[in-house]
Amino acid sequence: NPLARAQYMLAAHTPRQLPPDGGFEVAFAGRSNAGKSSALNALCQQNALARVSKTPGRTQQLVYFELPQHENRFLVDLPGYGYAKVPLDLKAHWQAFLDKYFQNRQALRGLVVVMDIRHPLKDYDRHMLGYAVTRGLPAHALLTKADKLSRGATAAAVQAVKRDLAKDYGDTVSVQAFSGESKLGVDQARGVICSWLEI
Ligand code: GDP
Repeated sequence: NPLARAQYMLAAHTPRQLPPDGGFEVAFAGRSNAGKSSALNALCQQNALARVSKTPGRTQQLVYFELPQHENRFLVDLPGYGYAKVPLDLKAHWQAFLDKYFQNRQALRGLVVVMDIRHPLKDYDRHMLGYAVTRGLPAHALLTKADKLSRGATAAAVQAVKRDLAKDYGDTVSVQAFSGESKLGVDQARGVICSWLEI
């Protein structure tokens, strides 16, 4: 597993704190509680990798994980959204940072959007997918917590999301079922991420 040695590198609160823009990175987005941390942990076969992203006060930062065996390869944990308690000016600052990141970041090779399979494609999920597609970057939707649904319901949910996304984005967004709990789809997701990172 090329992601197994992932380790915390830095947290960037402003564009100036980002690492040099010369590598390959894949960003992870998801609403709070969607299961993003669990997905990162499952992909990297670690128990607490993404815990650092959840430290209170760190919610407004881009958290970088490096892959020590692969030079200049990074996983980037975007803050979970639903930050209602954030003051308005900070929200604006943060929005501007994310806009800039998605518009300019050359290292960014793709976006993974983690959604609860029972509540997919909320406004913010579409917003994040829009960022990637506007930039011409591929996006991959992980419909997680699939262990909570039957196989039939899982397949139906995946099809419904695929149909919905195809209307807006054609085939630039791929979709799969996932579970950090049962590990359903972990290999498939890792394959997509490693192909974007060219490792
Ligand atoms: P985050 O806020 O998006 O990082 O979400 P977490 O990974 O912390 O997960 C939020 C909650 O959902 C926690 O209680 C997890 O145990 C649970 N959870 C996450 N992934 C799964 C999954 O694949 N299956 C099930 N059943 N629960 C999950």
